Order: sequence, then C-alpha cells, then structure tokens
Amino acid sequence: MGSEEQQMLAGETVVPPRGFIAAEMRRGQSLRITDLEGGQVGDVVVFADRSLAEKFWISNTIRLNGTVYLGPGHVLYSELSRPMMTILDTSCARHDLMAGSCNAEIDKVRYGVDDHRGCVENFIEALRPWGARREDIPMSFNVFMNCPVHADGSWSIETPVSKAGDFIEFQAEMDVIVAMSNCPQDLNPCNAGVLKPLGWKLSDGST
Ligand SMILES: [Zn+2]
Repeated sequence: MGSEEQQMLAGETVVPPRGFIAAEMRRGQSLRITDLEGGQVGDVVVFADRSLAEKFWISNTIRLNGTVYLGPGHVLYSELSRPMMTILDTSCARHDLMAGSCNAEIDKVRYGVDDHRGCVENFIEALRPWGARREDIPMSFNVFMNCPVHADGSWSIETPVSKAGDFIEFQAEMDVIVAMSNCPQDLNPCNAGVLKPLGWKLSDGST
C-alpha cells in the first residue's frame, strides 16, 4: 500500500493532535489504536459497567500481570481486580503503566508553566457526557509511551519506540467506557517533539 490514506483502516477515526475521544464498548468488542505517524502517545482510561464508579487501577494491573510493560495477553484490571480489557496484540514493544497523565498542575511544578492543558483536562471533557469530574479520572495506561525503569531504579520519559502504523488492539472483557487523550505534552520527549494524530477503530463486536 502506498499512501497514508490507503493504510488507514475502514471505519477508523483519526484523533487529531491534542484531541480526545470516548465511547462505550460491549463485552467482546475490540478497539484498535494506531500510531499513524509514529512516536505519538495516547493516554487510555477505562471504567466498568458503563458508569464512572469502578475505574481502571494501575497497581492491580501491575501485580496481576507481574510486569510494568504490558503486551499481548496482558489484562487491564479495575480497582476491584476485575478484568476490564485484554491486549489482543500489539506491534510496539513498549507501552507505559507508570507515568500517569500529564496535567496543568504537574506541568506548573515540573516546567513552571501556567494553564498547560494536558491529558487529564482532555479526559474530563471527553467524559463529560457521563458526568465526569476531575476526581473521577484514574491513572492512565499510556499506549506507545516509553518510560523505562533503569537497573538502578531510576525512571525517565524517553522518545517512543513506535513507528508509523504501529498498533495496539484491546478486547473488552466487560461492558466499559473507554476514553483516549491524544497526549498534548510538548515540554518533554514523550511525543518525540511533534504532536501527531492517532487512529481509533472499534469493531462491531463479532469476535
Ligand atoms: Zn499527556
């Protein structure tokens, strides 16, 4: 296939730089997120049973998978340790579970900037139809984000290893609300210095 247009999947939504999207998914339905140009992070949060009461929970996900680097077969768990989404497949070797989401408050602390809109602000807006407030937003799973834990225990935000066309595909293990922020962070290397679009495609659920 030649052009970028030809490589895009039928029915795929292009989430523009700094954009966001949210949807309800049925159990068994799948979601494919594509790094269309490479080197772009998407923050993902999930809520159980199509309400905001039970959230995706990072520490349960680390403990029950036994790793901080999720890949095919690993599961996103809720705060009640229920399986929410399984990663069916991914072509990218590195996604992040530990960085959380960028937001105006931490960017004021770490970079000294005021009102720097981040993924948390995007999530609040994306989830407004379900009544989200800031305190409803859990820590996110960050697709294509590269934050290695080094041998001495130190941790850093690095440029993604994802290439154009890399993808990650999830299957919902319960009915959920899922939201993605196309990460607007431009003050560190997490998006390789340029904000780019991401692809978002929900299946019809006939898996
Ligand atoms: Zn972000």
